[in-house]
Amino acid sequence: MVAVASILGIMLVLPIGGADMPVVIAILNSYSGLAACATGFVLNNNILIIAGSLVGASGFILSRIMCRAMNRSLTHVLLGILGPAEGIGSAEEIYAGRVKATSPEEVTMLLDGARRVVIVPGYGMAASQAQYAVRDLTNLLEAQGTEVEFAIHPVAGRMPGHMNVLLAEVGIPYEKLKGLEESNPAFEQTDVALVIGANDVVNPLARLDTSSPIAGMPILDVDKARTVVVIKRSLSPGFAGIPNPLFAADNTLMLFGDGKKAVMELISALKES
Ligand code: NAP
Repeated sequence: MVAVASILGIMLVLPIGGADMPVVIAILNSYSGLAACATGFVLNNNILIIAGSLVGASGFILSRIMCRAMNRSLTHVLLGILGPAEGIGSAEEIYAGRVKATSPEEVTMLLDGARRVVIVPGYGMAASQAQYAVRDLTNLLEAQGTEVEFAIHPVAGRMPGHMNVLLAEVGIPYEKLKGLEESNPAFEQTDVALVIGANDVVNPLARLDTSSPIAGMPILDVDKARTVVVIKRSLSPGFAGIPNPLFAADNTLMLFGDGKKAVMELISALKES
């Protein structure tokens, strides 16, 4: 039984890859609930049956919600159907000579002249614990009359609601946290989109390249903002492991550095300006 279960587990998970991994975690949670439920029937234990059913059902519902957020069907996720990936250029081809690095002082000038700024947080904000600095930056910008909003992708970070939890923890009002549907139409009227440690959730390949592993996944259309400033440490790919043409776009400036440190440098530069 142990050998068969191990082989079954490996075979189930092996075809699933890249950005589908969060769905797998939810599905495995659901399976653990079903296993507990089955154990409850064997042991004639009502608590196990009820608790197992709850875990199984909630894991399944979460998987469905995540699949919808990534525009993928559960069957496609489970069978690892992604479509051919030949269309994606290599990172060198996409970035060669096109990436523009910027400095906190230059970004400050942009922020000073901006009427509307949208902050797009991602895994890097959580990894660098930048949420407190992000709140201070928001307060500073609002004090100088700039409209600030947050665009939150449903799978930004490493767990559902990751960004909402971190931003709520530092006291960002709930009304400022806008979802995908609400944020996307407003990017065209946005002066600066400040992407802090996000990558896959703002990757235009999802929209432009039908052969990309993230093709069809709804993304935040930050590239439609007048200027995009991306804070991250390097040009490394995100969770899905693919390059991001946003970093080489004409209207994008890269502020390389640790998320928290970069935002704190922006705050100092804004205070001095
Ligand atoms: P992402 O695509 O994984 O990219 C995160 C970026 O953060 C990286 O490119 C990294 O670039 C940067 N970073 C890491 N540490 C940093 C630091 N200290 N300071 C600044 N930047 C830092 O993240 P995302 O855009 O949030 O997308 C989430 C991805 O995770 C999606 O593919 C999603 O499917 C997957 N996922 C989501 C969940 C969920 O439920 N939310 C769960 C599991 C997986 P550098 O290394 O260059 O800094």
